[in-house]
Amino acid sequence: MGSAALYHLARRGIGAVGIEQFQLGHALGSSHGFSRIFRDIYEHPDYIKLAEATIPLWQELDSLAADQLMHFTGLLYFARHGNQKIAQRIGVMEALGRSIECFTPQEVTARYPALHLPPDTVTCFTARAGLLIVGRCILEHLEQAQRAGATVQERVRVHRVDISQETPLLETSAGQMRCDRLIISPGPWAPEILEDLSLPLQVTRQQEFYFRPEHRDRYKPGQLPVFGDMDTKFYGFPDYGPGVKTADDGLGVETSASEVDRTLDLDKRDELQAWLSSIMPDSGFSYVEGTTCMYTSTPDRDFIIDAHPGNANVLVAAGFSGHGFKFSTLVGKILADLAADGATKYPVERFRLDRFEKAQA
Ligand SMILES: Cc1cc2nc3c(=O)[nH]c(=O)nc-3n(C[C@H](O)[C@H](O)[C@H](O)COP(=O)(O)OP(=O)(O)OC[C@H]3O[C@@H](n4cnc5c(N)ncnc54)[C@H](O)[C@@H]3O)c2cc1C
Repeated sequence: MGSAALYHLARRGIGAVGIEQFQLGHALGSSHGFSRIFRDIYEHPDYIKLAEATIPLWQELDSLAADQLMHFTGLLYFARHGNQKIAQRIGVMEALGRSIECFTPQEVTARYPALHLPPDTVTCFTARAGLLIVGRCILEHLEQAQRAGATVQERVRVHRVDISQETPLLETSAGQMRCDRLIISPGPWAPEILEDLSLPLQVTRQQEFYFRPEHRDRYKPGQLPVFGDMDTKFYGFPDYGPGVKTADDGLGVETSASEVDRTLDLDKRDELQAWLSSIMPDSGFSYVEGTTCMYTSTPDRDFIIDAHPGNANVLVAAGFSGHGFKFSTLVGKILADLAADGATKYPVERFRLDRFEKAQA
């Protein structure tokens, strides 16, 4: 979120500095691990519209990049008959007149020979979906931001933020810095650096595992879509990077960014491997590697994008609840709009901070 905000600020000609506590492109937060799903299917029309508004921004960044950042492989959701979530998503997309296809399991196999779903499966396919090469997206935002005049300070930690005066003051490992506007997008470190707001955020440990199929060419982007099982909440990607990536979207063990246990959960790995083999029985999958990442979730899984209640010059972008990356370039644009103009044309009402007070009242 921070790299995207820096990019959009710089492209508007605003002098901006990005501060990152680790090396750029590190694997310690929420935005590493080769790929992220982009999708336009959601339960709420706001997210569908935001996803649609995000596509041209990714395409713009893609056009500047040497390597392809976004692969439109399509996304196939599936579940057993009677699953309310898939029915709801299909209903919302149809009510909005958005194009989706509901293939039978036989049609799925005809289109994607590797996939064999059980006979009583409902599916929902959208072509406006696929995968984003997450690390490249971040580095491209940063590179283009710097080309447009932004400064990036890596391995600089912000210890404290003093917002008592109109111009916020940062105490960092590189000394003090004062700024006109401040955007705080700390990912899973939000409960620490935004302690004053007592946000109802839950940081959880999530893990991704890569498996190499025997015949890799049948599993590449184009041969397979991104796929998600709405009964188990398991999902997977075509073979990109070390192999076919799988993960569980269910919330993992609660943790904190400073204490997260990065030991891989081998039971979860085995469960995901068994699931993969059950829907793609023709191939053997050998385990390659796994990685630990964190979700920072709000109770309603809606994001937080709002001004700090104690200082209108400070913006908070947090709680991306395990589904934020696809929107990151748009979130950066929204943050740049809010920082520069105090307003944005995009629908951000549901991301307000005061919804938590209303929920408590
Ligand atoms: C396993 C997994 C799979 C996911 N899959 C998807 C998906 O398929 N599609 C999707 O849309 N989303 C997905 N998400 C969610 C998405 O990746 C996140 O919502 C998004 O990347 C969060 O970005 P962020 O900028 O908020 O956090 P981060 O990427 O963690 O960035 C925060 C940055 O702030 C820095 N920072 C924090 N505190 C300080 C400080 N005090 N001083 C200096 N720097 C600091 C950190 O070092 C970090 O680099 C997934 C997340 C995980 C963990």
